[in-house]
Amino acid sequence: MTHPGFSTDQPLRVAIIGAGPAGFYTAEHLLKKKAIPVTVDMFDRLPTPFGLVRAGVAPDHQKIKNVTKVFDRTAQHPNFRYFGNVELGKHLSVDDLRRHYHQIVYTIGTSSARKLGIPGEDLDGSHSATEFVGWVNGHPDYRTLQFDLTQERAAIIGVGNVAMDVARMLAKTRAELAVTDIADHALDALSHSRVKEIYILGRRGAAQAAFTIPELKEMGHLAAASPVVSPQDLVLDEFSREMADLDGQTRRKLEMLKTFSEMSPDGSKPKKIIFRFLVSPVELLTDGTGAVKALRIVKNKLVDTGNGVLRPQPTGEFEDLPVGLVFRSIGYRGVPLPGVPFHQRWGIIPNEDGRVLNPETGQPHIGEYTAGWIKRGPSGIVGTNKPDAAETVRSMLADVENGNYLSPDAPDMAAIERLVAERQPQFFSYADWQKLDALETERGQAQGRPWVKFTSIEEMLAAVGK
Ligand code: NAP
Repeated sequence: MTHPGFSTDQPLRVAIIGAGPAGFYTAEHLLKKKAIPVTVDMFDRLPTPFGLVRAGVAPDHQKIKNVTKVFDRTAQHPNFRYFGNVELGKHLSVDDLRRHYHQIVYTIGTSSARKLGIPGEDLDGSHSATEFVGWVNGHPDYRTLQFDLTQERAAIIGVGNVAMDVARMLAKTRAELAVTDIADHALDALSHSRVKEIYILGRRGAAQAAFTIPELKEMGHLAAASPVVSPQDLVLDEFSREMADLDGQTRRKLEMLKTFSEMSPDGSKPKKIIFRFLVSPVELLTDGTGAVKALRIVKNKLVDTGNGVLRPQPTGEFEDLPVGLVFRSIGYRGVPLPGVPFHQRWGIIPNEDGRVLNPETGQPHIGEYTAGWIKRGPSGIVGTNKPDAAETVRSMLADVENGNYLSPDAPDMAAIERLVAERQPQFFSYADWQKLDALETERGQAQGRPWVKFTSIEEMLAAVGK
């Protein structure tokens, strides 16, 4: 049985803004529904699809990128179209979308970085992990950035998996990196890096570190770097001991850190990855040249907030780490889309079960939805976005059942294509992307690498003859 309001000739028309995992999972859930004929148009501001799977997942974690095969299958659905190189707020407005679609889903991810809010944060040599990760992965926005890799010591603030990705990229040898899909510019620059000591700084204790076990394990298997952990950092307070007793993951993490702390330094490995816990950055120091020369940290102790969360509290004991490079890896943050509600403090689109809410009234914006990191904040792995998108799709379909959707005056598929072609003649179709993908793969084969990315939009357009 099909829904009375929609038919194969007049399907439910959905626009998805953002071609990352959340966008593709939303499309997959929608296109699998039999009860309502749906057509999906997906837009992305970059020509290339896949969001953080292409531009965020570390180049040496190639297996995670296999998920693009699932997204590819979704893209082959006859009711799916892709419009890359089309930006909401520049080429199209929310009002344009309202005129062409019954429902709109924002899946734009969280593209900027959280700030520390401490003096010296903007000195030369201080970067967000977001910038470094984008640069390493050949994201067009970050390809021209420069990192002073003549420095011998670097500090990474935060102990999440992104911090671990940054540390590995700084620690790996050319040979280790050259088999990955790292951007050519980053491969060249990192091959000449002089960074020898990489501090990874956690503001809470080892038991509270956000990284996961496989990522920690990798630190013990690097060709030219050894992990360094001080046994003192593994002496736990009573709350953390309790946490470790109750939670197997935490216990295993601590056991692995203990193994690292017991390893004698491998003299054949010139680089060190030094874990430090219970320390917070308080200031980035300079010698007057405008560049970072040191990072002042304060030692912390943990205090129980009473609701099961342990917070770091400064002890007043300071230390200066002589580092010339600092990477702030304390989480991503969403960026507002023109015409779309945004919760400034949380850095997300306010929503309930994926329904976009009007921040003043708390009422849903009819026909507008969100999924992924811009819906719930930057947490979880790629696969976490699948159930998250399913929740949004459930809300969408329930609203269709209840007649709560937009009434576009030009819902036919040709109308929006004409508008896009008029506003952005250089839009990328999925076929264009497949052509680019084949070229990147061909370039990779010549070098024994999975693929070699095009990193500028001009290059991408030229490569497919646009
Ligand atoms: P994250 O896991 O949330 O880690 C952020 C880290 O920054 C935490 O250690 C946090 O400490 C710390 N932090 C926050 N504010 C701070 C401050 N003011 N001063 C000092 N430290 C501060 O974030 P992420 O590393 O950006 O990763 C985002 C998500 O992507 C995570 O879910 C992650 O697992 C996932 N991811 C997965 C992979 C993978 O599967 N291989 C790779 C990359 C990312 P507190 O805990 O004390 O707040």
